[in-house]
Amino acid sequence: MDLDAPLTSLKGIGPKQAERLARLGLEHAHDLLLHLPLRFEDRTRLTPLARLRPGTAALFEGTVESTEIAHGRRRMLLVRLEDGGARVVLRFFHFGTAQQRSFAAGVRVRCFGEIRGLPGGLECVHPEYRILRGPPPPLESALTPVYPAAEGISQRLLRDLVGAALPEAQRLQDVLPELQKEGLPTLAEALRGLHQPAAPDAEAALLEPGSGNGRSAALTRLALEELCAHQLALMLNAGSRPQGRAPALKPGGSLWPRLLEDLPFTMTGAQERAIAEIRADLAREVPMNRLLQGDVGSGKTLVAVAAALTAIESGYQVAFMAPTELLARQHARNLAAWLDPLGIGLAWLGGRQRKSERETLLQGLAAGEQDLAVGTHALFQESVAFARLGLAIIDEQHRFGVHQRMALRDKGSGPVPHQLIMTATPIPRTLAMSLYADLDQSVLDERPPGRTPVKTALISSERRDEVIERIRVACGEGVQAYWVCPLVEESDVLEAEAAESTAERLHAALPHLRIERVHGRMKGNDRDAVMDAFRRGEIDLLVATTVIEVGVDVPNASLMIIENAERMGLSQLHQLRGRVGRGRRASACVLLYRPPLGEVARERLEAMRRTDNGFEIAEVDLKIRGPGEMLGTRQTGDRAYRVADWARDRDLMDAATRLAQQVLPDRQRTQTLIRRWLGSAVHYGSVG
Ligand code: ADP
Ligand code: MG
Repeated sequence: MDLDAPLTSLKGIGPKQAERLARLGLEHAHDLLLHLPLRFEDRTRLTPLARLRPGTAALFEGTVESTEIAHGRRRMLLVRLEDGGARVVLRFFHFGTAQQRSFAAGVRVRCFGEIRGLPGGLECVHPEYRILRGPPPPLESALTPVYPAAEGISQRLLRDLVGAALPEAQRLQDVLPELQKEGLPTLAEALRGLHQPAAPDAEAALLEPGSGNGRSAALTRLALEELCAHQLALMLNAGSRPQGRAPALKPGGSLWPRLLEDLPFTMTGAQERAIAEIRADLAREVPMNRLLQGDVGSGKTLVAVAAALTAIESGYQVAFMAPTELLARQHARNLAAWLDPLGIGLAWLGGRQRKSERETLLQGLAAGEQDLAVGTHALFQESVAFARLGLAIIDEQHRFGVHQRMALRDKGSGPVPHQLIMTATPIPRTLAMSLYADLDQSVLDERPPGRTPVKTALISSERRDEVIERIRVACGEGVQAYWVCPLVEESDVLEAEAAESTAERLHAALPHLRIERVHGRMKGNDRDAVMDAFRRGEIDLLVATTVIEVGVDVPNASLMIIENAERMGLSQLHQLRGRVGRGRRASACVLLYRPPLGEVARERLEAMRRTDNGFEIAEVDLKIRGPGEMLGTRQTGDRAYRVADWARDRDLMDAATRLAQQVLPDRQRTQTLIRRWLGSAVHYGSVG
């Protein structure tokens, strides 16, 4: 295997598969080596059916006794296995006819999956399985890695791909030999140890931030290298910052005053300050590079509108980008409400759009007839050209990494556009310094008055029935509610399954409510349709995965239940909770946890109850996480780092910066590190 070759050069990887892999940050063979397991499974021994325990994952074998198609709200396939007088049911929500037939009575099956206890006995939902014909194959000799997966990408495929790349790890150039003097393993050793630990080391190899074992030397080695690569990219970028000229944008037209006149409220002091800072930047020919941080609901949109109007009044165009179609459409709607009355049209560029419509808009942008374009990544594709782009606004920055940020800046040929990046994920000041060394910052640390704070309760999942009763009463009074299911990073099928089966159980318990679900396995159009129906009030209870985390705005939704809250990062919980408390009604958030709750976990969730200040919550998270016990800040897709975790590895930041300063004069090493960790898609002036 050639480590620099694109994945499409591998057998069995077509363009479609390659696109899905790219969503995990996997484009070249060497990327596979940097795609580390989330955890490991033990398939080195078989567990007899009689000894299966709910809540644990196990490898087991049995003989098919019977199969059945059951019809709940959805069709599902139930396969009953028997062995030594004990039984377990396999449950499949997604299945084909051939699959169904393969489970003929008498057939022997070997499965791996998480066991659930139901009143009627044990079951296993969507196990990995193989039908055994002939003598049973040998058991695994080593632990089995579980990788972050994505839509349409199975664990099996990832294991095969990484397994094929691993023998080549030796050939990956170790450009940081100085780390060995510090007692850290070589790059190849670190990679091998993390992908295929010997059984006794598996605990130590666990990668989940704060999983209680501290950080292995192998992980430290990789995290340092990655942080160093990012620092290098920032240093080069900071060096290149004064280059290029931006248009000097000066307010002075009538648009903003007209908008202010119709504003139904007065701006907060923080909004006024941020707008003044941005205006001062825009007026200069040095390209603005500013991060606007502000908690959910702090009024970032209005600040963005002020910036946009400054550009438009000066005769320039504005591009406004959000990370998902859903959010981009919501922004388009909100912006239109401010801008329509001013006679400013808005071009919408999404991923799914009729070609003819798209072409007309593209022509309008290229001809300079359209002042404002709103959309997703689609905005920054090569086919999109602006006549005179003056300002790019990017929302929800935490979904993007340094590399994406830089790629955006290169858009367009003429003057360099100013850039305003907005994030609702508060970042403690200490951390922001090193994470965003290349950005100036404005902070909205004040909320508009008149909000009723969200009342937050901590409730054990053993009291789930009471919570369901509470939903019944609330929805009966016209409230809309969210039920958030936990993130399952290793499999979108299991995550979708959790949402589907939760919706089903809630439907059984609350038959009079209109219940729908949204998850990542649904088609984009279907997902949008459900969200729109929820927004229109046609759904009482929305069962969702964390896809609703960012930005979704439905004022009438004032109750939120979050399942397995103890497994989520505080910032993520804060984001989720920010979805309620947007209307006039008093809102409530129930954090359901699975007992027993450890001391640290309790302290973290208590912090959620105590405060709704995002900056405070972020500080608490940093302070008490240490050897915490939760999964943490990992977000699906688009995460900024592959290996490093900003909370877990913050102690490495200084060392990484020092390392980067040493490496920087060495062009070859710098280039290798940036290419390896930030991808070849990015062009860095002096590196490229
Ligand atoms: P976020 O920072 O989460 O993006 P938004 O910009 O969506 O927040 O603002 C949330 C809501 O608050 C919007 O309905 C907006 O119109 C309103 N809002 C913004 N600024 C103020 C203010 N100064 N006073 C009252 N309401 C405001
Ligand atoms: Mg917003």
